[in-house]
Order: sequence, then C-alpha cells, then structure tokens
Amino acid sequence: MNVTVWNENRHEQLNPKVAEVYPEGIHGTIAKFLREKGYDVKTATLDEPEHGLTEQVLAETDVLIWWGHKAHDEVEDEIAEKVKERVLDGMGLIVLHSGHFSKPFTKLMGTDCDLKWREADEKERIWVTDPTHPITAGLGEYIELEQEEMYGEHFDIPAPDELIFISWFEGGEVFRSGATFKRGRGKVFYFRPGHETYPTYYNIEIQRVIKNGVDWAINRDTPEFTRGNVTPLENLSE
Ligand code: ZN
Repeated sequence: MNVTVWNENRHEQLNPKVAEVYPEGIHGTIAKFLREKGYDVKTATLDEPEHGLTEQVLAETDVLIWWGHKAHDEVEDEIAEKVKERVLDGMGLIVLHSGHFSKPFTKLMGTDCDLKWREADEKERIWVTDPTHPITAGLGEYIELEQEEMYGEHFDIPAPDELIFISWFEGGEVFRSGATFKRGRGKVFYFRPGHETYPTYYNIEIQRVIKNGVDWAINRDTPEFTRGNVTPLENLSE
C-alpha cells in the first residue's frame, strides 16, 4: 500500500510560527504517523521537479494526500490534470483543509469550492454524522479541537456521496468537514481540519481519520471499462 503525501511546503519556509509547529513540514508529520502505522509513504512537494509527482510516482501511488494553500496557482495545470486522470483511473485522493481550492480538487468537483473563513483561535467540534462509515471507525461522537481556523457554509461543492462529519465553530458557523465523492474508478475524501499554525495533525483522532481515509480510498483490482463505440456482445444479425 503506497501513500504519497503532497504538500505545498511554503508556509513552513516563510512563517517561523508554522516551522515551529511543523519542523518536518506538514507532509513530514503526516508521513511519519502513517509510516508508524505500517504504510509505505513517500512525500512530494511543490518545488521539486514536476512537484514530485512524476508519472512513475503517480502510477505507483495508491492514495495521494494533498495539502496546499497559498500557491495553488503555481501547480502546473499539466500535473493537476495528471492527478485528476490518475484518480479517474483508480487512485484514492484525500484533500485536506485549504486543499479545497487546489487544482486537482476543483477539477474533480467541477464547482468553485469556495467557503467562508476566519482565523480567530476558535474551538471546533467535528461531529460524526455517519457512524457506520469506515472512516469514522474508532471515534467517539465527535472530535474536539481547542483551536482551529473557522470554515463556514456555504461550501460550494457538489452534493457529497457521503457526508461523514459536520463541524461546529465557537463563532456559530457550521461546515461539512468530511465528505466523500466517487469519480471514475477513484474515491475522493475531503477532510477539513489542519490550518498550518495549529498542531492539528498531531491529534491522535485526526490521525485516525486520515488513516481510516487511506484505508477507505484505496482501490484494489477495480474493474476497468471500455469507453466509446463497442461491438455487441450478442449476435444482433438475426
Ligand atoms: Zn487554513
């Protein structure tokens, strides 16, 4: 099971506060806890050639995790398109936090993916709305984060296939924080938490959700379909 954690990795270089919270980068922190759980994990970042997402890396990736924020525009369209094509071909994709505006996610959703936000050190309570879903396995009724950035509705996404979490914020807003989408032969999981100045990805329950997300998003031996004009399977001549 090969997981690739992709991170823009800019805040960590530019903001000492973020570097202090994530000295190994957000990608390093996520990769570390997934490796400890037994996964084969690579990392890739924006400033690497082809953003670290060569055709070989993508071909070998079962699940790609994506964190980006301030440099979505610097992701080459060609690479974003390749990520999208790999999802349609069966790669799992987990999009975290501000990745809602990333090129791969907006291409796959087909909507603006806009939302409202506020940075005010607010408490976030992430309620489980689908207790039977494998992504919520092992959680309680909710996950509470003492401080996070607020994201509020309306979140301009297509109606999710499954709504797994709804967040409540101290300031009064709510947000669809966990949502799944099937695209082609691939599965997409959007998970909201993870503003760069908060230690969210060290939270054991957040780590559990991401791990469960990887297990859910992975596809093995998904049927392949022929597209376009085809000859009939039965004899139509009589
Ligand atoms: Zn943020």
